[in-house]
Amino acid sequence: MQLTRIEREFTKFHSSIKGLSGCGYLVQEEIDNGYVIMPRGSDELVLTLMAVTHGDEVAGLAVLNEVVEFLQAGFVPLQVGLALLLGNYPAVLQGKRYVQRDLNRSFALQGVETGEAERARSLAKVLQRTKFFIDFHQTTAPSTSCFSIFPFQRRSLAFAQLVQCEQPAVTRLGGRFSQDGMCSDEFVQEQGNVGITIELGQKGFDPTQIAQGVLIALRALRSVNAAASLDSVAVTTPLHTFGQVITYPASGEARLVEGLYNFKKVARGERLGTIDGEAVVAEEDGAVLFPKYKFDRQRPPHELCHVLREIVAEDLLQE
Ligand SMILES: [Zn+2]
Repeated sequence: MQLTRIEREFTKFHSSIKGLSGCGYLVQEEIDNGYVIMPRGSDELVLTLMAVTHGDEVAGLAVLNEVVEFLQAGFVPLQVGLALLLGNYPAVLQGKRYVQRDLNRSFALQGVETGEAERARSLAKVLQRTKFFIDFHQTTAPSTSCFSIFPFQRRSLAFAQLVQCEQPAVTRLGGRFSQDGMCSDEFVQEQGNVGITIELGQKGFDPTQIAQGVLIALRALRSVNAAASLDSVAVTTPLHTFGQVITYPASGEARLVEGLYNFKKVARGERLGTIDGEAVVAEEDGAVLFPKYKFDRQRPPHELCHVLREIVAEDLLQE
């Protein structure tokens, strides 16, 4: 049933972006399902918005379409080069996170030949030129709020603050999230530019999440238009980093207690689940992130759940 909505949004994506050439913009489909839109007299790509990097996280596609409507109506004048990308549309058609391999662990990947690795190379042609980047995702479990998540970089944190206002940011220090390939935001940051991921909320075409996403995209357009100096932005947004990780055991069973969701507050000592019948408790006060309930028991996820630790920006800058 949802496929109909997806097909409608997909058709609209192509037709409305192409329609922008009638509004005085230069529109080019530089890669499959990826457009660069330039105001006349400009040739610098400044902002890139990407959706469906994970094929079953669809709300971002509707966000991009709404942004194009604002541009078409002339409500938002585009003063800088903007790219709009659909990460993994083959996975969207299958209603899956990915087809062969997680696209968001496939950037700058060597020696792996999958459809996703090839797609990452194609997307990289655009991503390596952009100054600012937002990748729209959604979560499996419900979430109390939309949040940003990205490797720590001072300017990316400031950008997250500007586009999200007071919604929480989750950031991690040092090193690759995953050894086998980069996330999209990580790849953009590696080029010395600003990249963040936005988690809008639980998967699906939720209208309030789409509205949130549009607001974030419009704030991003305004922020880069104003060329605000990110170095001087004071960070006041609630900030978290990864604390405890509950990993799935190499052999045996693990299970979370019912009712965990993203940003659910937990207290030290609170029971979070069981591993091989033994209770697992929160090691400190914090908030739950990415709890997993439904998965293939034959191929369980590496991480069953995270507990976030609340920090302030100064904690990161000192390290
Ligand atoms: Zn995702």
